[in-house]
Amino acid sequence: MNIMLLGAPGAGKGTQAARIVEEFGLVHLSTGDILRKAVADGTPLGVEAKRHMDAGGLVPDEVVIGLVQERITQPDALEKGVLFDGFPRTIPQAEALGAALAESGLKLDAVISIEVDPEAIVARITARRQCRGCGRIFNVATDGDLTVCTECGGEVYQRDDDTEATVRKRLDAYEAQTSKLIPYYAEHGTLHTVDGNQSPADVYTAIAGILRTVG
Ligand code: AMP
Repeated sequence: MNIMLLGAPGAGKGTQAARIVEEFGLVHLSTGDILRKAVADGTPLGVEAKRHMDAGGLVPDEVVIGLVQERITQPDALEKGVLFDGFPRTIPQAEALGAALAESGLKLDAVISIEVDPEAIVARITARRQCRGCGRIFNVATDGDLTVCTECGGEVYQRDDDTEATVRKRLDAYEAQTSKLIPYYAEHGTLHTVDGNQSPADVYTAIAGILRTVG
């Protein structure tokens, strides 16, 4: 099955994605993670992406679409199915994804929108930390200010774009572009809504319940 998580920055997509792929055996496709790896590796794509990411804006559609097209046609993605996290973020990306999946005879089986009160988001994101090694997400408020990952021993750091000023710009980009995907998928897909203000465990229970009816 192919599943998509929608939601504002800080809604909990990355946290939920890690749990979902573990239980349902999907390939986790996070465009943010792919871009951060390109930035860390200093590739030309990474240098170009970093400009947009540090400014809280979106990386151009054609760049991101190319990355996704390449990933979803790899054998493990075709065999296991994909969990899309942070992609698409614009209507042209959603249209390109629909066309790319159709070309491989595939479709989206569920789109899950994680909805969170906007006031909670800035606090959540500025408290977020991530492992450079395995990508696991932590929160200073609930996990303490870790420097070493409890899963893999990797370095735990704060993303460059998780500062308050950048978060506000990312929220503007979400409102202007990505939020339009919710009505789009209500019309073009199977949209499910989950209350993201609950604990991560309760959000996961709600999502897993939906996926069991789909898969
Ligand atoms: P994320 O890890 O999903 O929060 O993404 C971090 C940043 O990477 C975003 O603020 C964008 O600058 C960039 N990015 C990630 N995914 C996309 C996408 N689908 N389209 C455009 N930019 C993206």
